[in-house]
This record gives sequence, C-alpha cells and structure tokens, in this order.
Amino acid sequence: MSSDARPDGGDVNLDPAVGPGAPGIFFIICAPSGGGKGTLIRRVLKSVPGLAYSVSWTTRPPRPGETDGVSYYFTTEQDFEQRRDRGEFLEWAVVHGNLYGSSRAVVEKELAAGRDIVLEIDVQGAAAVRQLMGEAVGVMILPPSFEALRDRLLARRTEATGTLALRLSNARGEVARYTEFDYLVLNDEVDRAAKQLAAIVYAERARRARQEWLARRVLATFPEAPPDV
Ligand code: 5GP
Repeated sequence: MSSDARPDGGDVNLDPAVGPGAPGIFFIICAPSGGGKGTLIRRVLKSVPGLAYSVSWTTRPPRPGETDGVSYYFTTEQDFEQRRDRGEFLEWAVVHGNLYGSSRAVVEKELAAGRDIVLEIDVQGAAAVRQLMGEAVGVMILPPSFEALRDRLLARRTEATGTLALRLSNARGEVARYTEFDYLVLNDEVDRAAKQLAAIVYAERARRARQEWLARRVLATFPEAPPDV
C-alpha cells in the first residue's frame, strides 16, 4: 500500500484500503438547504483520495456559478420523467418543489470498481437508499442553529423570497430526522467540520469487516509452529 503526501502533512496511509474485489463504501450526506454541505464535500473530495462523487440530476434551474455536469445535470421535467421511467435513477424525490435524482449507472459503476462514493441527497432520498442498500453510511450535517442557517441562506442570495421561505420551513423537518443517520457533523467551522467528515470516511474504511482480508494477509505471515529465535 502506498502513502500519499497529505495536504496537512500527516503520514497516515490513505489508500481506500478495501479488500481486493470488495465494493466501495456508499456515503450519503444530508443537510438542510444552506447547511454548507457543498463546501464541506468539495473539501473532503479534495483531501481524501479514492472518493468519488455522484452528480445528481435536477429540474431546478442552475444558480449563477453552477456548471452543468459538475454541480448537477440540469434538465427539464419531461426529460427527468423519461429517465425516471426508464429506471435510470437509484432514487429520486421532489425537494423544495423540484425533482432530484441520483444516477444508478454512476453509483453502480463506482462501487463495483471498489471506489467509495458520496451522494449528496435529501432525507427522503437517504431513506430510499438505505432501504435499497443497507450498507450505506449516513451522515447528517447540522447547522449551528436556525438563525445561522437563515443567515447563510440569505447571504448566499441564490433563492427567490418564496423559495427561501420554503427551504427554511422544510429545514426543521429535515433536521428532526437526524435519528436516521449514523454520524452527525456540526458545521460550525468549515475546516473543523471537513476534518471530521474526512475522519468518518477513514473510520469507515478501517472497519473490521472491511479489513479482514488485510488481517488474514498479515496473519498468514506468522508461522503456525513456535519460531526458532
Ligand atoms: P439544492 O437545490 O440546494 O442544490 O438542493 C436541494 C436539496 O436537494 C438538497 O437537500 C440536496 O441534498 C437534495 N438533492 C440533491 N441531489 C439529490 C438527489 O439526487 N436526490 C435527492 N433525493 N435529493 C437530492
């Protein structure tokens, strides 16, 4: 196994470290709108090797600065519905009045190649994925408070007044579903929260069930009979 140079100068082994032929780990990340998960996820994708991101499809119009194929695949309702009917989505949901869905092909391809993948989806999508794939690891990003969330959404200036109110009124119900997640990360300070999120990825990779192949390989180097020393 190799040890890459880390941005923070540490020397922990960074290999995705699942066994040969083992599927990747499926991370689902949820946060209420304005929770800052986009920035966090970008940081973690940059700092953690071997982590892929599934770009979702949506009927929401692009915001300034968003690029088709990078932020989302932006499409029409008609196209989305055709894709949905062809079974192209692993899950899909109506969120804040728009359609969103995750590409089944991308997720299946990455996991089969043994790469870990991050899906940034809403709480309905997360529940659907957990039904489908019990092994998924769920992380909820929590804003420090309702005020902090509102201030962040207002400062972002991306939403029309009606959409902003809708997003804020949906936020409580989203946060209240924290019990459905394996990990909770408070996004009070982006550097700290990004480190915590990266730590979750490393911890999941180190789970015994995923490292048994390694233990067996190490064990095989030990002689069964007492060694002559
Ligand atoms: P936004 O419009 O702010 O980018 O996203 C709105 C909500 O839709 C967020 O909660 C985001 O996580 C969610 N979302 C984005 N992509 C998907 C997806 O593929 N499926 C589901 N169910 N939700 C998604």
